[in-house]
Amino acid sequence: MIVPQASRLRDVRYDIRGPVLSRARQLESQGHQILKLNLGNPAPFGLYAPGAVLADVAQGIADAQGYSDARGIYPARLAVAERYAGVVPGVGPDDVFLGNGVSELIVMALQALLDDGDEVLIPSPDYPLWTGAVSLCGGRAVHYRCVESAGWAPDLSHAAAQITARTRAIVIINPNNPTGAVYSRDTVLGLLDLARRHNLLVLADEIYDKILYEDAVHECAAALAPDLLVLTLCGLSKTYRLAGFRSGWLVVSGPRRDAAEYLEGLELLANMRLCPNVPAQYAIHTALSGRQDIGELLQPGGRLRDQRDHAWRRMTEIPGVDCVKPAAALYLFPRLDPEVYKVSDDEQLVIDLLEQQHLLLSHGTGFNLPSTDHLRLVYLADVGVLDDAIGRLATFLESYHQ
Ligand code: PLP
Repeated sequence: MIVPQASRLRDVRYDIRGPVLSRARQLESQGHQILKLNLGNPAPFGLYAPGAVLADVAQGIADAQGYSDARGIYPARLAVAERYAGVVPGVGPDDVFLGNGVSELIVMALQALLDDGDEVLIPSPDYPLWTGAVSLCGGRAVHYRCVESAGWAPDLSHAAAQITARTRAIVIINPNNPTGAVYSRDTVLGLLDLARRHNLLVLADEIYDKILYEDAVHECAAALAPDLLVLTLCGLSKTYRLAGFRSGWLVVSGPRRDAAEYLEGLELLANMRLCPNVPAQYAIHTALSGRQDIGELLQPGGRLRDQRDHAWRRMTEIPGVDCVKPAAALYLFPRLDPEVYKVSDDEQLVIDLLEQQHLLLSHGTGFNLPSTDHLRLVYLADVGVLDDAIGRLATFLESYHQ
């Protein structure tokens, strides 16, 4: 029997876990060991959540056997609301939806919003689930440019020029994956102003809001625009090092009245999936209690800070490679100078690197970047492993031709 794929999947792409990963699996099945720096997954690199968080999950497990409230258990929603208290006005537990990771909530937020052909403004490069999820929901992802020479800040005039009568929402990924950029207050205000002038829902993906280096300051979009409907998304995967728990939240802020129908749709979708995974919700209260945050890993001498600095230094020592130093998150997004490396297919480059050096990175076009001159490296591994990986990349590039 031929089983065709749903046509709605035709335009859905998620290349960072696509053909390259399949090739890596093949090589592994042949007995090769692959060094994987392609996924922002802290635990495999020995970055674990504090014991107190795990203890609370273990303690809650007996009470976690039934479905919970579709939006999530009350103490966890209260803890999320308190995380934003004093920053975003008027947020309470009833404005919080918990989900199986930010990923599930992204899809729900778009499913509740989009009719066929509706458009959503998304940064380029992006975290590609956003683009894929818009397509999945029948919408059209329209990308606004982020400018490398400006530290990957969004180009506000380009964003404004992309708006049409069909534009329904604007996605802000700040701090950004894959670029590691943290947007200035003026940039966030500029994006919010576009939303204000064109009646757009603001979808603020702030999953890296506390993974900041040096003097970087995160500007929470919802805090700067209490007059706009903003959905803020964040979760336990990165800051709290619990990616496998699949636990995230969506916070609704701003004027709810005009959005009552949309919010009812969101609630309907939350109800349809019954509830998010309940045991993982028991991690939220303790993780957010403030006793154990990621701060010390980010200070000078802290693991993530050292790894970022080391990886960036080694990467930019490779001839023909430059890289905006990331101010946040877990990634380097280096550029291969097209004068030095003539790359017409960056996915092929990543496959060739994988085959020759058994090193798995991600290609820039997988993040909906139009040019083929970028790679993404995750610097969660310790300094020795990063040294080895970047050494392998340098050796590979020395003789690489397409
Ligand atoms: N948003 C961004 C910007 C991400 O980088 C990621 C994961 O890498 C996600 C969302 C998905 O997070 P979660 O694990 O909560 O589904």
